[in-house]
This record gives sequence, C-alpha cells and structure tokens, in this order.
Amino acid sequence: MKSKAKQNTFDLVCLQSASGAMLVPYRFERTRQVKRMNLHVDSSSVVVLKAPLRQSQASGVRFMEEHGDWICRMLETRKSIPKLHSYLMKHPHLSLAGRSVPLVLRFKAGVCQHVIEDTAGRVILTVDPGKVLVPQLVSLLKSIAREFLPTRLMELARKHQLKPHGITVRNQKSRWGSCSETGAISLNWRLVLLSPPLQDHVLLHELAHLKHFDHSKGFHQFLKALDPSSEKHARRLDADASLLIDLGQAEL
Ligand SMILES: [Zn+2]
Repeated sequence: MKSKAKQNTFDLVCLQSASGAMLVPYRFERTRQVKRMNLHVDSSSVVVLKAPLRQSQASGVRFMEEHGDWICRMLETRKSIPKLHSYLMKHPHLSLAGRSVPLVLRFKAGVCQHVIEDTAGRVILTVDPGKVLVPQLVSLLKSIAREFLPTRLMELARKHQLKPHGITVRNQKSRWGSCSETGAISLNWRLVLLSPPLQDHVLLHELAHLKHFDHSKGFHQFLKALDPSSEKHARRLDADASLLIDLGQAEL
C-alpha cells in the first residue's frame, strides 16, 4: 500500500505542443495491472501515467513527450484548471530584484510553502494538491511580493533621489499601484508576474507621483527621465493588464 504522501507527490515535465511549451505535473505509477503505458488526467489536473513494472520513468517521460500535443490540449480545455495555475504553468517565471527568476511548481500533501533558492536561482512553490490551489498560490505569491517589491522600489527610489513615505503590498482589484498625497505607495502583488522592465515601469510611475501628483505633461516628462521607454512600457502594460490583473481574483 502506498503512503498518502507518496500518492500526492508529483513530478513536472515540460511538453511541447502546437501552442508552445507547457509545464505539466505528472505522476508515474508502475503497476501489474497494465500491459502497456497509458495516461489520463485526474481531477486535480495531474497527468497520471500508468506503466508495466518493467518500464523506466525515462521511457514514461518519452511517452508523454510523444503525446505532448494531446496532453496539452486536454489540460487547456479542462475547466478544472484555475486560471492562475495554468498561467504559472505556461509562464514559469517571477520578476524579483530586477531579474526574471525561473519558477517551479511542486505538489505535496500538507505543504504550502515557497523556497527561494539563491544557488540555483529559482523559486519553488510547493502546494497541497488536496486543497484548492489558487488561494495557496495567491498567498505564496503575495508573501514573495512582500519580500521583494518594497526592496526593489527603494532601490529605484534611491537611484533617483526620491523618498516614499511608506510602502504596502496589497491585493488591488484593478490597479497595479497607487501613490497617496502623503507619499505612501501601495503595490499590487501581481507585479511579480510582470516582466522586469514592466514591473520597474510601474514602480517608477508611482515614484514619479512623489514629484507630480497628477498625470500632467510634467508628470510624463519626469517619468520619461526615470524610464526612457515609458511610452512603450505603458502600451505593453495596457495590452497585458486585463489578463494579469484578473489572475487569482474570481477564482478565490
Ligand atoms: Zn498614476
């Protein structure tokens, strides 16, 4: 009999499909009950690959790679995959300290934690597959954002001799950030999902409000001095904003 922990521990494989690469959680099970390899997607959107006892895990991975297109299509059409989860599987990166850091998603019963591996330069999120995924992912990403966004904001503030009066990281529904009249800056945790230049663009936009408390011509000129590509970044942010700002909202 397998232990529960073993049953709930998964591996990940990167599969290629017509719509691009996708990081897919899978469980490899050797069993006497099957004569040849077969796979299905379980209720937590994990691919379960059953194989005869003689098969190696490497041959199982090759089998999944050969059926990558089918697996990705199955996963994409599964309504049971929460949007934030599928977004992270397709875009496994976070922007931390001005750089893009690879993100690894793991599943383990009874665990909800993040580990930032300095040596390997990656972030590992481990969530409990027996519980609803999105609240766990949101809480982990929020604590990572609280760890990194204020530091990055202060780094940029110092570079441009600006002084915010208080920084908070919150779960805003429609804004990337805001700056109060007293100079308190509030940032959306989803900023860690933007690319580093777009994240910096938002941070610089809020810092620019410390000098210009409006969106006047003077504000935009000042912002351009801080972020020379500010117009291009603002356009790209507009294009991505609705998709990213919705992540983790209706799903909670
Ligand atoms: Zn503004």
